[in-house]
Amino acid sequence: MTACVLIHPHEICGEWLEILKKSKINTLGIHPVGGRAAPKHLEALLQIVKTTEFRRFIDDVHALGIDVEYQIHAMSCLLPRELFDAHPEYFRINEKGERTPEFNLCPSNDEALGIVEKNAQRLAEQLYGSSEKYYFWTDDVRGSYCHCEKCKKLTPSDQAMLIYNAILRGIKKFRPNAEHCFLAYQDATDPPKNVKADEGIFLEFAPIDRDSFAPLSDEKNAAATEPIPALIDFFGKKNSRVLEYWIDNSRYCEWKMPYKKLPFMPDVISKDAELYKRFGFEGLSSFACYLGKDYMALFGTPPIKEFAEIIN
Ligand SMILES: [Zn+2]
Repeated sequence: MTACVLIHPHEICGEWLEILKKSKINTLGIHPVGGRAAPKHLEALLQIVKTTEFRRFIDDVHALGIDVEYQIHAMSCLLPRELFDAHPEYFRINEKGERTPEFNLCPSNDEALGIVEKNAQRLAEQLYGSSEKYYFWTDDVRGSYCHCEKCKKLTPSDQAMLIYNAILRGIKKFRPNAEHCFLAYQDATDPPKNVKADEGIFLEFAPIDRDSFAPLSDEKNAAATEPIPALIDFFGKKNSRVLEYWIDNSRYCEWKMPYKKLPFMPDVISKDAELYKRFGFEGLSSFACYLGKDYMALFGTPPIKEFAEIIN
């Protein structure tokens, strides 16, 4: 069973290493900030990964027997927005019928997917100490799919699937056994209808719209869990992963300062973990952002050890 927490690269610190030492977390996700500012945060990550300090931290995490993954909204890096002037056809047509470099791309354009493939390999090569599981997500913005004549026939999940298949093709040139997620999230929570998942694609389910103060079994969360059986049916159980918000203090703080004390709800987490295991998920992750050194100075050590006990 994979038990994983995702933290921001700038929140890495010795305190986190101590927490990991004492907990049953077996995978650490490095997650640069998402949203519309994701490109800037990915650029910062690519500088951080070169530093001795960061590499030492990753080595120390590995020494604890913990895997490291990078989970990133990466589209702007995979298809640089500057290409728009020379190749507008690589980019998407929005719902108003305008071609725009804003978010994602036109996945019916093979040349654009070829560039994504090449850049996915280059990005993977830079991620120090990564496991063979990769998570280069599409843009963190709803309604950001292509509406061109060809793409009109594709659902948002079909479009995402074409992108994730291309990313995996690229990464496999660097690591032949690499695997890549299909992130079931926002507009792409249903399984693809017209595109198959290539070998090595696994399901990652991130129910951002759920109410985290009530268990998933509560009626309030019926819409959040509804796509799960079809997703599992399509992608299979192998490597399937939940990406939850149970201890995501950035979400509880609405992704802005000041820090609030993390609301920790063992009862909700325990019921949800049981439900996810019943569905057949093989791994459970939660964002654990806004829980770095500055948070700890205000509110003490976050309950990661307790969290890991519950989900294991
Ligand atoms: Zn298109």
